[in-house]
Amino acid sequence: MSQASLILGMLWRAGPRGVCTRELLERRMPRYAARIHDLRRRGHAIITMDCDDLDHGHRTRQVRYVFTPPGPPILPAGALAVRLSQP
Ligand SMILES: [Zn+2]
Repeated sequence: MSQASLILGMLWRAGPRGVCTRELLERRMPRYAARIHDLRRRGHAIITMDCDDLDHGHRTRQVRYVFTPPGPPILPAGALAVRLSQP
């Protein structure tokens, strides 16, 4: 299974919580950004949000990726604004 497929599976399972970059690095996927790019190019709607999970102890700004399936929005409040602000 490709890394992109693995990441897509993680995103599916995580739902609106999303997947923090820390989790991707723990799974030994240092090239996660390129894989997310590939998935987006294939048409998957994946938004980027700041990770605000205090348990992660981030010292710098880190992001998590949230998969957004078609249909009614399942995202937490504030997510849409983040999505619209992406280039
Ligand atoms: Zn995090």
